[in-house]
Amino acid sequence: MMHAKDEQTSHPTWTFSDGRTMPVGTLYCIGRNYADHAAEMNASVPTDPIVFLKPPAAYLASGSTLVLPSWTDDVHHEVECVVVVGRDIDTCDEASAWSAIAGIGVGLDLTARDVQQRAKSAGHPWAVAKSWRGSAPVSTIVPCDGNVVGPLELRCTVNGVLRQHGSTASMERSIPTLMKFLAQVFTLRRGDAIFTGTPAGVGPITSGDHVVGELSSIARVELHVG
Ligand code: MG
Repeated sequence: MMHAKDEQTSHPTWTFSDGRTMPVGTLYCIGRNYADHAAEMNASVPTDPIVFLKPPAAYLASGSTLVLPSWTDDVHHEVECVVVVGRDIDTCDEASAWSAIAGIGVGLDLTARDVQQRAKSAGHPWAVAKSWRGSAPVSTIVPCDGNVVGPLELRCTVNGVLRQHGSTASMERSIPTLMKFLAQVFTLRRGDAIFTGTPAGVGPITSGDHVVGELSSIARVELHVG
């Protein structure tokens, strides 16, 4: 299965379960938003949010086959709740944040862990480790029409074996808190999305693996590693 494409621009598009589509914008990703994952990385929960970005070309539709990059030997799965922004906002408060969210889904923040560890050691940015083409497989998006959704269960299996299991209730910073912060700092645009962090249990994927991420029973992302 190929990327979903906008016919006019070949730009990747979100697929919603009600049939609407939207161009994929900037993917804002949050680091260490679950204490159990911070602990497994021998790191603390940061005072200020850790934010990194993936470009639209990182997006991959669920069901795709991904050939892992040749320049890394250690790609990890990180299952995450993903929210897609429904309108442009440069400010919002936590009470109104959900009204700017078009829908919710589940994604895999694929990470070249070896490259990331070298970058961390050198004090360098994570862009190569985190933001490469195909590093962001995401499910079909479930519209939420301004309603608060959750808490929801997050699961990741590799070849049917459970690797990650958590709840969005365990986020250190809630979705509205993240929306408020990101809108103020960056401006959020329609089609942008937030990867809201991963619970413990991250680990390597290799050629031939079948990776499934689930958000309760509402969303499912599937990846075949080529
Ligand atoms: Mg992550």
